[in-house]
Amino acid sequence: MSWKVDLSSIKKRRILEGIFKLDCLDLEAGCMPFLEDIKVKVVVAKAREGFVIGGYVRTAIQHPCTRCLTPVRVEINGTIEAIYVKRIHENVEREIHLENLRNVIYYTSPVVDLSDRIIEAMVVEVPQKVLCKPDCKGLCPYCGVNLNEHPDHVCDREKEFLVGSNKFAALAQIKKKLEEG
Ligand SMILES: [Zn+2]
Ligand SMILES: [Zn+2]
Repeated sequence: MSWKVDLSSIKKRRILEGIFKLDCLDLEAGCMPFLEDIKVKVVVAKAREGFVIGGYVRTAIQHPCTRCLTPVRVEINGTIEAIYVKRIHENVEREIHLENLRNVIYYTSPVVDLSDRIIEAMVVEVPQKVLCKPDCKGLCPYCGVNLNEHPDHVCDREKEFLVGSNKFAALAQIKKKLEEG
């Protein structure tokens, strides 16, 4: 179904309800696949200042745990909220007044696409840190072993790493001496 609405055809209100189609949710950590249909309901209501959009989006995505990279199911219960106001160039004062409100979108063509609002509503629902469990131990920083699965892990690579970093420290000292000398 289409999430484009011709605002000029709405006399009072219109309800759009259905499945939103999207391949994956584009986030900082990558484009995350959906585990459920994306169920959306939006009400578009004519108001004094423009059109008020309200609704919800429900689905679930798969996202890697921020610490250990295990795939985690993240439920999404997003709220869609926006006000669409026709852009009028002559009336700057009115625009400044509305600028203080959240989610004001100015339109020039009355046919608006609500897809971006739906995607935004999902993106803000994903926590900054997605954890497989609150006390996830993450990965060994030296060899990458999952520390949840190997809580008693003692790393052989840790020594190598320290030797390596000492080498760098030694080199840095030589460089410093050369520069000073
Ligand atoms: Zn984890
Ligand atoms: Zn290790």
